[in-house]
Order: sequence, then structure tokens, then C-alpha cells
Amino acid sequence: MNQKAVDYAADSAVMQTYGRAEIGFLRGEGCWLESDSGEKYLDCASGIAVNTLGHSHPHLVAALTEQAGKLWHTSNLYRIPGQEIVAKMLASLSGLDQVFFCNSGAEATEAAVKIARRAAYEKGEPERMTILCATGAFHGRTLGMLAATDRPVFRTGFGPMPAGFDHVSFGNLNALRAALGPLVAAVMVESVQGEGGAKQVPDGYLAGVREAADEFGALVIADEVQAGIGRTGRLFSYEDTGIKPDIVALAKGLAGGFPIGAVIASKAVGAAMTPGTHGSTFGGNPLAMAAAKAVLEILGEDGFLADVRERAAYLDTALHQLQTQFPAMIEALSGRGFLRGIRLHDSVDLPALVNRLRDDHLLTVPAADNTLRLLPPLTIHRDEIDLAITKLVTALTAMAPRDDQ
Ligand SMILES: *Cc1c(COP(=O)(O)O)cnc(C)c1O
Repeated sequence: MNQKAVDYAADSAVMQTYGRAEIGFLRGEGCWLESDSGEKYLDCASGIAVNTLGHSHPHLVAALTEQAGKLWHTSNLYRIPGQEIVAKMLASLSGLDQVFFCNSGAEATEAAVKIARRAAYEKGEPERMTILCATGAFHGRTLGMLAATDRPVFRTGFGPMPAGFDHVSFGNLNALRAALGPLVAAVMVESVQGEGGAKQVPDGYLAGVREAADEFGALVIADEVQAGIGRTGRLFSYEDTGIKPDIVALAKGLAGGFPIGAVIASKAVGAAMTPGTHGSTFGGNPLAMAAAKAVLEILGEDGFLADVRERAAYLDTALHQLQTQFPAMIEALSGRGFLRGIRLHDSVDLPALVNRLRDDHLLTVPAADNTLRLLPPLTIHRDEIDLAITKLVTALTAMAPRDDQ
């Protein structure tokens, strides 16, 4: 083993907001990360659904380096050419009209909520302020977005929560219809709850949300921060359902690792946002736009997403075999595409499994409901999927109760 380049001091000056593993990475290529002690790790975490095209993708590296040599930042006081291009791309890909750029997922969902409320206000319905969210939802860590989750793990000790958010039972249309009314500005929905355990809404749910929202005069906000940008095999995870949201929040994977957030809105809704109503110093700066444009170019290449769907189906088959092999450990599989969850029985220690896999050089991400999340780069190869499964078999075998061995 090589000497570590950096020593992680016990008295680290980094605030302990994460239970960090004692490992750092210095470089990456494709689905592989190289640690500071020179060891290679298969990355099935993608920086939590961020590295859409893996690490050091040549098209992204070229786009960002070229932009870095020209111009980094000017501000939204001026036109930003890259923004005009990426906004047009996102508008045409979504069938919506206007884009606001920011720097993260929480900023995108927060802006989505502001836009929905302002649209109601401009329509002469200022009392329409409530945002309906699902139980188990995660929309980010700002105070507003803490109010949008119902999970104590994120909220405890940060009160008072901003008013104007209600929660309805995940995937339950009757509960949603009962909560809709003249005070509801929007329904905010993750079609696959990422942090919630790669949990997919039931078939027909999104169409039902769209219909009920229309009936009660509310907007639909799709939080595509984790499930969007090809992760489910479609550019937007709701595409298969045929619905069109009024507002879409994007972030994580949009610029392949460069910080970014974006909100796409219909013209009718976006028109409520006039100069001075919202802003962001860094939002949509030339570097982020160069990276986002490069990601969207690759995702838009002929056959790219079809190929993602084929390899995701290959992973799906392998996961079902794994479930058959370990029935006493795996309770269910969740998610789709390359946003997958392996829900473990309560008897299985999820953090221990994540650690064991990492010790065996496979990176995964824990999620709610005792679920192991797999979020590989969309470019993962079949032999890398095979290797990830082999490592899962090894770890589960080592941790299995007797009747699974
Ligand atoms: C990660 C996430 C967010 C928050 O994104 P940040 O960039 O961490 O602020 C919001 N919504 C969903 C669905 C997410 O997965």
C-alpha cells in the first residue's frame, strides 16, 4: 500500500455533519475511483447520483477546461450565453418553457415552491400557499425544504418549521385528493423517492396526481433532482407516465459533478417571476453551463439512453437472482434504471453491509427503510455490473444467517 497523501486528523477542522468513511479519493476514471493510498474502488454511488457519466469523461473534461480558460463568472446582471443554450435544451427536452438556474437541489426545490406560490398570487389567489408533499419525501436541507420532509432525522432541533407544507401518505391518491383544496398551491412529488429508499410511486399514481391537481387548481412540481437526467433510463423519470408537470426541479446529475440546480417551468407559471422576484449570484455561471451542456449532449446522442435501459435491465435481472439467492436477507427490490434499492430485512445491519462492501472496494449508498442504494454512473459496463454483483454475493454470504448459506 502506498503512503497516504493526506492524513485525516482526529481533530479535523471539518464540521462533522457526515459520518465520513476514512477514505479519500484523488482521481477517477469511468466507474472507478482511486483512493489516496492508490487503491481502486468500483463506484456504484456516483457521488449520490451526481456523476452521470462517471469520472473524467473526456467530453466533460474538454468542455469544462475550455470554458475555464475563457471565463468563469460574470453574474446574472448580464446575459450568459451558455445559459441561453442550456435553457433552450432543457425547455425543448421537457416541453416546458423557462429555466431558472441555481447551484443545488435544495435551491431548485425551494425555487420551485416560490414559483408555485407566486404564480397563485399573480393569479389573484394569494391564499393558495400550501405545498403537499409525500411521507418519506426528501427535498433538501434548507429550512423550507426541511418543512417539506416529514422525517424527524432531518428536522429535529431545527424548529420552528416554516408553515405551508402538509404531508400525505406516499403513493396514496385518496389521501392526496382529500388534502387538495383552495389553499393548495402545488403538489411536490418524487416519482422515485431516492433518500426514501429508491421507492417508486405505484403505477398510475402520477397520472392521478396530475388529474387531481388540475381538478383542484393546484400545480404539479416534479422533484427530479435525483431521479432525473437519465437515472431511470429516461431523461425525466416521469416521462413513461405521459404526464407533464408545471415545474421540474433538477440538480445532482445535470452537470455530471459540477454544482448546479435548475428549475424548468411552463410559460404560464414562469411568467409570475419578474425581475427582482428571485436570484442567485452563482446560478447558471459559465462553468456550470459548459458542464451541463456537455452532459445533455452525451445523453442526447442517438441510442445513449436506450443503451442505459438495456444495461439497467441487465442489472435488474442480476438483482432478482440475488434476491432469490438471499431470501432471508433481501426483503424487496425497489427503484428502476440505475436508481435501485435492495431493501434488507430488519435483521440485516445496513451500515455494516455498506462498510463491508467498501472494504471490498465497492461504493454504495444507504437509504431509508434499511435499503442499500445502487447509483452507478449511467456509463457502467456489463462486466462492472457483474463485478458489483459478485461483491454483493460475497458480502451477503459472509453476513447471512445459516439458512441462506
Ligand atoms: C439530493 C436531493 C435534494 C437536495 O439536493 P442538494 O443538492 O443536496 O441540496 C432534493 N431533492 C431530492 C429528490 C434529492 O435527492
